[in-house]
Amino acid sequence: MTTLVYSHPDCLDHREPPGHPEQAARLLAVERGLAGLDLERREAPLADVTDVLRCHPAQYVARVERAVPQQGWAQLDGDTYLAPGSCQAALRAVGGVCAAVDAVIGAQARNAFVACRPPGHHAERETAMGFCLFGSVAIGAKRALDHHGLARVAVVDFDVHHGNGTQDLLWDEARCLFASSQQMPLYPGSGFADERGAHGQMVNVPLRGGSGGAEMHAAYQREVFPRLTAFQPELILISAGFDAHADDPLAGLMWRTADFAWLTEQLCDLADALCGGRVVSALEGGYDLDALAASVAAHVGVLQRRGR
Ligand SMILES: [Zn+2]
Repeated sequence: MTTLVYSHPDCLDHREPPGHPEQAARLLAVERGLAGLDLERREAPLADVTDVLRCHPAQYVARVERAVPQQGWAQLDGDTYLAPGSCQAALRAVGGVCAAVDAVIGAQARNAFVACRPPGHHAERETAMGFCLFGSVAIGAKRALDHHGLARVAVVDFDVHHGNGTQDLLWDEARCLFASSQQMPLYPGSGFADERGAHGQMVNVPLRGGSGGAEMHAAYQREVFPRLTAFQPELILISAGFDAHADDPLAGLMWRTADFAWLTEQLCDLADALCGGRVVSALEGGYDLDALAASVAAHVGVLQRRGR
């Protein structure tokens, strides 16, 4: 077995105004990072609406679809835009996560990486924000629980920004442990340690600006890994943002490529111990193209080696 990678050319058609950091070129950088790894490539399908509706109301989905412009851009908030291909791209991102969940639960592979955009972890129930339209990883978690009948699923979000959308979508979901590390203060402003979810099932780990790998390792060992072990998930999903890298232009943490490899290795160790190695990781942020390529190579390289 090897690592499955889900992607689709439609994800290049989510275009942003010139100069926007969440650009289609990010996916080309991701592909540079994946080149040379021994992976099984699959096309990300369009999401089934049933899956989307587990997290977003139908009126919201219709509102996003209606807002898609015939040409140019429509703006949903200060930094979230729609182009003609955006909704299709976002539905590929959701569909990719759901297909990856199906494949890993179905033992077609031990782990998978979803190389799609736009990202999803800032999208709340009825609010597109922070470059995100639909909460892909939260929707994947719900599919694992509701469609496959898993009893416990964990989501780990190491994007430098707080996964406020995932937190909103899973706030009441006792069957899902959500652990998120984020630079604070930083956009979107949430993610304080006292945000614990309706059932105490959320772990928020604020990291101070300028802090690096050593602080991150200690924080995860202290706050996240023991909670994962205690929770005994049957699947671990990862919101894999690479914008905590020292070279990223949108934030101020000082992680290096090796830190993403370290964290991935630790999460694979936990997955091996807890759930047969089952990991589904999905691209979120990461805006320095060279750092993104190198970090994806490190992250997926570990998944590939551990997935054999
Ligand atoms: Zn981010």
